[in-house]
Amino acid sequence: MKNSEILTCFQCGTCTGSCPSGKYTSLNVRRIIKDSIKKDISDQLDLWMCTTCYNCQERCPRGIKVTDAILSLRAQAVKKGSILPAHRAVCKFLIETGHAVPIDDIHITIREKIGLSEPETVRKYPQALKDVKTLLESCGFNELVK
Ligand code: SF4
Ligand code: SF4
Repeated sequence: MKNSEILTCFQCGTCTGSCPSGKYTSLNVRRIIKDSIKKDISDQLDLWMCTTCYNCQERCPRGIKVTDAILSLRAQAVKKGSILPAHRAVCKFLIETGHAVPIDDIHITIREKIGLSEPETVRKYPQALKDVKTLLESCGFNELVK
């Protein structure tokens, strides 16, 4: 996303008014956009309260790609070592198991009871885990989140 797009924000607040997460957390997406123009906000925890529902992006009257901007700001934050412990744990799961949320035997049993087969993932094809690990390592993911 071009910085010039964000500069067209006129602080109307439509994004904040459309934000379901902001109703329950300290997330104020209008303020995030405003602050990101002026300073480094990598250490702002609010960045991680966004659920990426895209409401704000769909409704911004300026056509600013608000959610994409948040994802971009998060990527910058991670590169600076700022990531929530819970998200770091999810990344660790992905590196170790090939699943951000590993499926356990209990849930496999529940799936079987309602007629669902095992998902087509590395749990079913364990030999693919090596490929997932190689991919994550080669793109620098492991280094970013360790
Ligand atoms: S909806 Fe768009 S123009 Fe309005 S405050 Fe949010 S980002 Fe800025
Ligand atoms: S994408 Fe994030 S910031 Fe935008 S409305 Fe949804 S939760 Fe709020």
